[in-house]
Amino acid sequence: MTIAVIGAGIAGAACASELVKQGLDVVVFDKGLSAGGRMSSKRTPDGYLDLGAQYFTARAAVFKRQCENWLTLGVITPWQGRLAIYENGTLCASPDQTTRYIGLPSMQKPVQQLLQQVKLNSPCRVDTIKYDGTHWQLYSDEQHLGHFSQLVIALPQQQAAMLLAEHLLQQPQLQALFNAEALLPCWSVNIELDAATSVPFDGIFVKGDNAVSWLARQNSKTGRAPGEQWLVHFSPAFSQLHLEADAAQISKVAVAELQRLLGEDISVMQTLCHRWRYAQQAPDYPVHSHIYRTDLSLGLCGDWLNGGRVENAWLSGYQLARALSYD
Ligand code: FAD
Ligand code: NAD
Repeated sequence: MTIAVIGAGIAGAACASELVKQGLDVVVFDKGLSAGGRMSSKRTPDGYLDLGAQYFTARAAVFKRQCENWLTLGVITPWQGRLAIYENGTLCASPDQTTRYIGLPSMQKPVQQLLQQVKLNSPCRVDTIKYDGTHWQLYSDEQHLGHFSQLVIALPQQQAAMLLAEHLLQQPQLQALFNAEALLPCWSVNIELDAATSVPFDGIFVKGDNAVSWLARQNSKTGRAPGEQWLVHFSPAFSQLHLEADAAQISKVAVAELQRLLGEDISVMQTLCHRWRYAQQAPDYPVHSHIYRTDLSLGLCGDWLNGGRVENAWLSGYQLARALSYD
């Protein structure tokens, strides 16, 4: 049995890693230059910047064990960021006991660790999949990538829908997964300042009716670019409304919002803007864990099926692998 996994984010990597541990033959395909997906930090000449996932927490025992293993291997570390909350026009300290992990020196490190013993074909965008009743055939730019007895699709919902398009027409149960949007967008802007701010916080949860939802001081994280670097994440509502806006315009708003929320004047050296089309879980999308269709030799996993966090994405991939290998 040879299994193809499309997508080398944390979900695809967790799935592939577990399948290989069960002695199965697995090939992972990813369109990116390297593995990581939305957990990828951006490499700059000065160091890494986290534009996507900021940190992750661990609640399930099985994921806590995975984190212990990553800690031992030195690919993650706890982030000691001082937390605050901005609410009703006020910024105040909001410390808690939660352990928040970051990849070391970049967010994609734990994903890459999972794939160490796995065949990874990247960059390789899979654009066509065909099922002949016993095998899946995969293609990229009309080039045949191989035939596989099982297929795992570990992509964001909208990208999975594109690949599965013609198959969904004949599968109303699968189609139902794609009727409502699971993932909403997020505009992300890194702002490099020419002097340190005096705000005594490194991560700020912004509540209420604000355009921004999260601020973080990148240089409070081990391994990230030095200098005063603030990351701004916009809310799903703002990001959806301004999805097609110009990056320069979004950066301008981010600078104004950072100044307003921190409550002090800032002097900007440069900004870096990224639009994540598929970022955070729509609040009313149901949780499925993963999907496994034995009749189609097909599995689906990813954060969108399990609640839009790193831990949930990992669990989705891991649980799919368990279902597949016990079949
Ligand atoms: P992805 O990481 O999206 O992986 C899918 C992979 O598929 C990608 O590597 C992509 O290159 C590849 N791919 C796509 N199409 C193809 C194709 N046709 N062929 C081949 N490969 C393909 N979670 C937290 O827990 N904490 C946070 O602080 C946090 N902050 C976030 C902030 C932002 C801005 C975003 C975007 C996400 C954040 N998340 C956070 C969510 C977290 O990043 C995701 O839940 C998780 O990384 C999703 O993993 P995944 O494997 O399901 O998907
Ligand atoms: P978590 O437990 O740190 O946070 C969960 C939520 O609890 C936060 O969003 C915040 O609203 C609240 N919270 C936690 N600690 C707080 C504190 N000390 N003071 C005030 N409020 C606090 O982390 P998690 O459950 O692992 O969730 C992952 C994080 O990733 C969340 O913050 C989520 O919003 C974020 N996320 C962002 C995107 C995006 O696109 N921007 C996508 C997915 C996830």
